[in-house]
Amino acid sequence: MRPKLVAGNWKMNGSLAANEGLLRSVRATADALRSAGCAVCVPFPYLPQAQAILGGGKALWGAQDVSEHAPGAYTGEVAAAMLAEFGCRYAIVGHSERRSLHGEQDPVVAAKFAAALGAGLTPILCVGETLAERENGVTEAVVGRQLEAVLARHGIEALGRAVVAYEPVWAIGTGRTASPEQAQAVHAFIRRTVAGRGKEVAGRLPILYGGSVKGANAAELFAMPDVDGGLIGGASLNADEFAAICRAADR
Ligand code: PEP
Repeated sequence: MRPKLVAGNWKMNGSLAANEGLLRSVRATADALRSAGCAVCVPFPYLPQAQAILGGGKALWGAQDVSEHAPGAYTGEVAAAMLAEFGCRYAIVGHSERRSLHGEQDPVVAAKFAAALGAGLTPILCVGETLAERENGVTEAVVGRQLEAVLARHGIEALGRAVVAYEPVWAIGTGRTASPEQAQAVHAFIRRTVAGRGKEVAGRLPILYGGSVKGANAAELFAMPDVDGGLIGGASLNADEFAAICRAADR
C-alpha cells in the first residue's frame, strides 16, 4: 500500500506572526501521525521560518514554484539549489495558477520539474483540466498531455522521483470538489498512463487530489484506491482543518 501524503499550499498568504502558530500546529499534527506524511509549501520568504519551526519533526516543507534556470542573471527567480539550502523537500511545479496567471506552458513546467530534481527536491507536478475542457470531454487528453510533457523530456525514472497532483482547475478555491468517483477516474487514468512507460513506477507513484479538500470531505476522497492524499490550498491555512485532513489520511 502506498503511504498517504497531505501537502499544504499556502499560496501567497501568511505573515511571520500568523505562521508561528500554524507551523507549530502542523509540526504537532505531523508528529502524531502513524503512517501518513505531512508537508507545507510556503511562500519563499517564510522558508527559514518553516525550517526553524518544523526542522527535526516529521513535517516536511517546500516551495510553491522554482526557477527552471541554474543561478545567474534571472531577476526575481529562485533557483532549486537555493530551496535545497533551506531544507525544502518539495517544490510544486505547474500549479494551475502559474499556468493560467503566469503563462507557464508544458515545456517550462517540464524544465522546472527537472531543475527541482537536479537539486534533490521532490517535484509535485500539478495537472488538471479547466471546466470547459471537462465539459468538452477532453479531460484525459489535457491531463495526458501535461504528463507526457514531463515523461517525453525526462523519462519514467524521473517521474519515479516525483509526486503528481491532480487538480481540476474548476475545483481549486471554488468550494466545488470533484466527487470521489470523478477524482478516482482521473487518478486511475494517470496511473494507467504512467504504467504504459513503467509498471513499477506507476505502482508506487503518489497521486494527490487537490481542489477544495476540507476536513469534511477528505476521508471519502482518500478512500479511493488511486487517491494517495491531497494538495490542500485554502484549508491548509486553518490549523484545525488541516489537522483534520491529515488525520483523515492517516487510516
Ligand atoms: C491548490 O491551490 O492547490 C488548491 C487545491 O486549492 P484549494 O484547496 O483552496 O482548492
